[in-house]
Amino acid sequence: MLALSAEGILPRVDYAIFADTGWEPQAVYTHLDRLENEIAKPAGIPILDVSSGNIRDDALDPEHRFASMPLHILNKDGRPGMTRRQCTGEYKIKPIKKQVRELLGYPYPARIPKGVFVEQWVGISTDEFHRAKDSDVKYMWNRHPLITDMDWSRADCIRYLASIGLAETPKSSCLGCPFHGNAQWRAIRDHSPEEWADVVEFDAAIREGNARAKATGNKLLGQAFLHRSRVPLGEAPIDHVTAAEWAALQEETDGLDAVALEEGVADGCSPWACRGSDPVGDDFGLAA
Ligand code: SF4
Repeated sequence: MLALSAEGILPRVDYAIFADTGWEPQAVYTHLDRLENEIAKPAGIPILDVSSGNIRDDALDPEHRFASMPLHILNKDGRPGMTRRQCTGEYKIKPIKKQVRELLGYPYPARIPKGVFVEQWVGISTDEFHRAKDSDVKYMWNRHPLITDMDWSRADCIRYLASIGLAETPKSSCLGCPFHGNAQWRAIRDHSPEEWADVVEFDAAIREGNARAKATGNKLLGQAFLHRSRVPLGEAPIDHVTAAEWAALQEETDGLDAVALEEGVADGCSPWACRGSDPVGDDFGLAA
């Protein structure tokens, strides 16, 4: 959408916002620099980098309140579970709303007068139109130009990106997001050894839950894992699906199908476009 706007195919946007969880793959930060230098700057579109902190550091810091990642849990009785996801709300939606309020001239907790709002574009394509949602606040009006203006599918978007030299556009998400499918885990392991060591180390460090919960006596009753198999990431069956993994999948109630094992959660973690489990009910998107 940024490139379409810069080219004048879509109307000119005033700003682009990148919500940085602090733990994106290096390829995403490198890509962002390219977008900024080759597309945004020449078109005079500022990219605003916003953040609520570093999700990796916060998970391991006993002094820091932590907005939970969707960790895969192995309960003491052997049943699989999942922790509630609060991280999209905390690390993406909250800093975007804060920035938008500042752009409008009404920083939190100022009351925003009726009729004052931004138009926010969310990049949902036609094959995932079910993800197109309204914003939960009146000062942001969501629009989905890839659907309403372009009528573009995911394949159309990929073709366009390739035509402007961005065929290698990486998928944005936290390096150690538990929503990854085996394909994403393998890509990290096989192409980025340092990042693989980082996620394996993080996986071991959250076995008993996040540091703050442990420090405050709210230790997990089971064990937490990044990989859906509930096996330590370094040993997890990311090259094939085990019988135990299939069985665990059947027990889960989140409605995922087997494709998620390989490709990851289809709806991923995009603000205003995910599976609807984000706690963003209040005006400022503060995680509970
Ligand atoms: S990418 Fe995953 S871990 Fe990161 S904020 Fe989104 S859901 Fe949470």
